[in-house]
Amino acid sequence: MFGKVLIANRGEIALRIQRACREMGIRTVVVHSEADTEAKYVKLADESVCIGPPAASASYLNIPAIISAAEVTDAEAIHPGYGFLSENADFADKVQKSGFVFIGPHPENIRLMGDKVSAKAAMIRAGVPCVPGSEGALPEAPAEVIKIARKVGYPVIIKAAGGGGGRGMRVVHTEAALLNAVSMTRAEAQAAFSNPTVYIEKFLENPRHIEFQVFADEHKNAVYLGERDCSMQRRHQKIIEEAPAPDLPAKLRERVGERCAEACRKIGYRGAGTFEFLYENGEFFFIEMNTRVQVEHPVTEMITGIDVVQMQIRIAAGEKLPFRQRDIEFRGHAIECRINAEDPYRFTPSPGRIASYHPPGGPGIRVDSHIYAGYTVPSNYDSMIGKLIAYGATRDQAIRRMRIALSEMVIEGIQTNIPLHLELLHDSRFVRGGTSIHYLEQKLAQENKAAK
Ligand code: ADP
Repeated sequence: MFGKVLIANRGEIALRIQRACREMGIRTVVVHSEADTEAKYVKLADESVCIGPPAASASYLNIPAIISAAEVTDAEAIHPGYGFLSENADFADKVQKSGFVFIGPHPENIRLMGDKVSAKAAMIRAGVPCVPGSEGALPEAPAEVIKIARKVGYPVIIKAAGGGGGRGMRVVHTEAALLNAVSMTRAEAQAAFSNPTVYIEKFLENPRHIEFQVFADEHKNAVYLGERDCSMQRRHQKIIEEAPAPDLPAKLRERVGERCAEACRKIGYRGAGTFEFLYENGEFFFIEMNTRVQVEHPVTEMITGIDVVQMQIRIAAGEKLPFRQRDIEFRGHAIECRINAEDPYRFTPSPGRIASYHPPGGPGIRVDSHIYAGYTVPSNYDSMIGKLIAYGATRDQAIRRMRIALSEMVIEGIQTNIPLHLELLHDSRFVRGGTSIHYLEQKLAQENKAAK
């Protein structure tokens, strides 16, 4: 096992990785920007290195600075967390070429899955069901584009091969709007991702977002750790996640989970990964694979008892998966609410100093957060300041515990989305389970209308 790991991230995930390391007896090096000097995990680290000014481009995305921090502190491995450089194949390459272990997949797997066109092609070859659409990239010729869209059937969605974070997508309802939408998405994709390649998919009108957590080791073993339902989204950003997905038939879980594990074996995957699907009318359609730990990994940990972050570290150190598929049991139900520093209804960020903080507790409650009273939420990064996770023997119990936890949680001095979460945990459609990815936006639009 490694003696020292460098954590190349910030916020709650930096603390989460640090906790995993400390439990394993691994010393931690934290790199941080000038905006994060006062962070809790920086104080708790065995060593810390300031790698630049607040702007992420100058610090958390600064590859040479991170590699030199690993060199001067003599760390053996680098954990990239999520976001920032976690899915940057060039970074993974440089980490390895500089003599460190990258706690994540092989760079060529990151590259394969980072391009959605090549990812989809690989998944079709591996027998994973995909959203119907163009075979690979869209050609230039307008007549061809029209023909492909007709064959897929309207509405369609134009997506950028290099897209991510919910950007680079456009829905088209009629042929009249098609060519203009394609050229606009191409231009945006070129500007945002330096890659003008786009493709077409059938636009699913009422799907749920259900994703499978997988793990693979260097010894050709691969398993799935069940699924998570992340349908509660706004602007393609998840805000509540749960495991298992409400009302998913066990046989279907097994069939799709096995396909995902098999796909990992086929592409020679290593480490943690997530296969994201849209789920509609009892069918799964692959949309993309994330080659890193996900924000929502705790709900999987709660129902399997497996520490996802420690498992990532063990696999990176060359260990075998310590269990087989049949050893993995799914027990109870877990729900996660992402706590964001923002206006709960207008969604404008609300950085600033936290005047007082009272975290919730009690049976089945877990808080993954780096905040404390007196902490200042910087304005330079994502607005997520923590995650509240509730576990129960049943979904109903998890919901009841989450309501209590949300009502106990007090964060003063800044605005948070706790009021929105409280409302959603009492929403009859959410309580019933199985809402679509459009539910939250439709609900917010209706409430807005009612307010006018
Ligand atoms: P990103 O990498 O930007 O997150 P994804 O391909 O994962 O992009 O898609 C993000 C979200 O966009 C999905 O969770 C879903 O809400 C919506 N979406 C993507 N593809 C489709 C589709 N074919 N039909 C309907 N919605 C889609």
